[in-house]
Amino acid sequence: MATTVLIVEDEPEIRELLNFSLTRAGFNVTEAETGELALQRLDSNLPDILIVDWMLPGMSGVELAKRLRRDELTSALPLLMLTARNEESDILKSFESGIDDYMSKPFSPKELVARIKALLRRSGAPEDDLIEASGIRIDLVSHRVTIKGVDINIGPTEYRLLELLMRNPDRVFERDQLLDRVWGRSSYIETRTVDVHVLRLRKVLKPFGLDGTVQTVRSVGYRFTPIQ
Ligand code: CA
Repeated sequence: MATTVLIVEDEPEIRELLNFSLTRAGFNVTEAETGELALQRLDSNLPDILIVDWMLPGMSGVELAKRLRRDELTSALPLLMLTARNEESDILKSFESGIDDYMSKPFSPKELVARIKALLRRSGAPEDDLIEASGIRIDLVSHRVTIKGVDINIGPTEYRLLELLMRNPDRVFERDQLLDRVWGRSSYIETRTVDVHVLRLRKVLKPFGLDGTVQTVRSVGYRFTPIQ
């Protein structure tokens, strides 16, 4: 999958403009009209970056940003705020609420795309649609996995698991965190299921001597540690 952007904007024309510009720039775009809807979306699907309008009906963009920062699942999601010009003086304050960058309307779509790419770079998200480590290569566009040049047959859950772990090398994920991020928070699956899929993933890696990259951290969870 290409990099996903979630647009949170109540004005249909601006949403459309954003969607158009970002799709053309190669992003996968999802939309929410309100902060409340955005939170629902995030429960089942995490984007790579959020574009949030400051003035939203109901929960404001700033309130949404604060909520996201408080939640472990979304605390590190890059967030770019869109504001009207006259709100710019309030912006500095809102950096405390966890926004990473902002742009005033009307904005240049080209500049917006550049800012998004810069934010993604800072957050460590892959720029070109590839993740690669220890000879394992994930093509995020086609969802194909190759190991040492060999095409791998991998189930959709194992794919998402591998992608998440490889995006965050050496970071330990608890089973609950993996459930949230691989299966979606709205799913009702036992944490034991995580173990089953980790075993399957290791089975895929084993013929290449790479099953050791997916490590069990006793009584905590799992992590991906690249082999040099
Ligand atoms: Ca608005």
